Amino acid sequence: MSTIATNIAKVGTRIREAAQAVARDPDEVRLLAVSKTQPAGAIREASDAGQRDFGENYLQEALEKQADLRDLSLTWHFIGPIQSNKTKLIAEHFDWVHSVDRLKIAQRLSDQRPPELAPLNVCLQVNVSGEASKSGCELLDVPELAQAIIALPRLRLRGLMAIPEPTDDPAEQRAAFARLRQLQSELNLDLDTLSMGMSQDLEAAIAEGATWVRIGTALFGARAYPPQTASAGPSHE
Ligand SMILES: *Cc1c(COP(=O)(O)O)cnc(C)c1O
Repeated sequence: MSTIATNIAKVGTRIREAAQAVARDPDEVRLLAVSKTQPAGAIREASDAGQRDFGENYLQEALEKQADLRDLSLTWHFIGPIQSNKTKLIAEHFDWVHSVDRLKIAQRLSDQRPPELAPLNVCLQVNVSGEASKSGCELLDVPELAQAIIALPRLRLRGLMAIPEPTDDPAEQRAAFARLRQLQSELNLDLDTLSMGMSQDLEAAIAEGATWVRIGTALFGARAYPPQTASAGPSHE
């Protein structure tokens, strides 16, 4: 077995055990392989091992890999910060967007989603860590934003997403994920997705109801280099 196939199996075991520990059905938790900065060959290896869903943060890098991998039938998720001049290509080339954090971006994605494609699945990214984090909308803004997104014809709001401040304390990890779960249940909308949990904290996220865990390092190893030059760092993508 290749290293990536072995890692997929290991992460699958972690997911199953975490779900069973809280009496959840492991099939409710799906694995999103975060392939940012990884070469197309790594995605192909993961695909050969049965992985279908891939998450990318940097548009240009993602488009190049998608072109290389056209022969595979993969599902692509955009999970990085979104600038408004990138929405058209994102709307055209992805199946899911997990990182919608303001209405202007949602409106553009809806307007620019090609009519021949199914509505774009989106999650509203929420800042559950207060001032420590810059990405995601404020908790208080979620109800109004969710309602506005639901009204957009070419988007399908699936749920909420968060990237809490990293911490090694499992209780703190769970507290942040619990805030997202509770917020989602208070919305009282027909949502089926909680996108939360990464390599370090997937157990805590699953304990609090994650339906997508977004896993990079535990599948592909450490990211050795940022994908872009200093003149266009990740925060500009
Ligand atoms: C990079 C990234 C991940 C994966 O993080 P790992 O710690 O490598 O598992 C998950 N979600 C988002 C939004 C990311 O940018």
